[in-house]
Amino acid sequence: MLTQNQLAGLLERQQQPAYRATQILDWIYKKRASSWDEMSNLPESLREILAEQYPLRPLKHTLTKGSADTTRKFLLELADKRYVETVLIPASPALYGEKSDRHTLCVSSQVGCAYGCKFCASGLDGFSRNLTAAEIVSQIILVEELSGEKVNNLVFMGMGEPLANFSNLCEALEIITAEWGLQIGARRITISTSGLVPQIKKLADFPRQIRLAISLHGPDDETRDKIMPVNRKFPVDELFEALRTWNLKKNQKITLEYILIDGVNAEPEHAYILAKRAASLKAKVNLIPYNTVDGLEWKRPSDTACLRFKNILSKAGVSATLRLEKGHDIDAACGQLRLKKEKEKL
Ligand code: SAH
Ligand code: SF4
Repeated sequence: MLTQNQLAGLLERQQQPAYRATQILDWIYKKRASSWDEMSNLPESLREILAEQYPLRPLKHTLTKGSADTTRKFLLELADKRYVETVLIPASPALYGEKSDRHTLCVSSQVGCAYGCKFCASGLDGFSRNLTAAEIVSQIILVEELSGEKVNNLVFMGMGEPLANFSNLCEALEIITAEWGLQIGARRITISTSGLVPQIKKLADFPRQIRLAISLHGPDDETRDKIMPVNRKFPVDELFEALRTWNLKKNQKITLEYILIDGVNAEPEHAYILAKRAASLKAKVNLIPYNTVDGLEWKRPSDTACLRFKNILSKAGVSATLRLEKGHDIDAACGQLRLKKEKEKL
């Protein structure tokens, strides 16, 4: 998987005419060629050189969970036999009142995660490596091939911390949004982060209107410190200062993701602090009842407690959704399926 610039440099080194770049980009991203051999209008010698260096399908499909009208989770194998997972979430208008043409893909950015949030399956096994831009983009291409559906909404909420893989993330974003690439509108792409302050500020300068979601999960340092080690490095005040920078540069609302965990962060007093914080940024809040993870003792609160939490936010004028979860039954929380696969290997 290549960007326009990388391709231009490569063709120059091979003493090939510049128009070949357009031909190749067209084969990769529009015609979706799965091998370099298919590119019949390129000289064979060039195809051979490219095929050696740039595999067009760096991921191999291993397993799908779910069905065409539900959330589908794809387990994908990388060339080095590691696994990542990607989740396709169809809109179900009857149930959730969403636009029916929406196909959201939740992609992974790393194998494992180094941030070790206490509630998260991705962190459980530690960090293995960053995904390359090609491996990130390939998740979209492969799932479109497997499902026959066009992905038109993208969230970086799979395994890994996307902002800890910053340059590959930016390269992937370039390919995903470009006219010559996958042409997914930047406003339909959300990057989720546990709160890496310097990278949030840097990403605010990315020249497109991508969206930002913050995994907040605790409205104050006391609560957040208990479940997210990253908070000791970038405490809530610092995080919110970075988010104000984002607000100044981007013309759209930030989303605060908030998992409701029983006995940890779901009491009314947490909701009051969260309401103030969210209002200060004019941010939206996404409440997610905790999805149980094998081997972890956390639980979701009762439905009544979740609703009470949401009502406190709504009454304070904060736009909040209590996410009706899709995929609860297929280990859809990030990292869960891959963790099972890794355990099978042992
Ligand atoms: N590392 C980034 C991107 C991963 S997003 C981040 O943390 O934002 C994955 C989302 O799923 C995060 O909001 C994460 O907090 C949430 N999550 C992790 N484990 C979960 C669980 N068991 N139930 C519900 N949500 C979970
Ligand atoms: Fe990593 Fe995000 Fe999971 Fe935290 S919530 S361990 S940052 S993937």
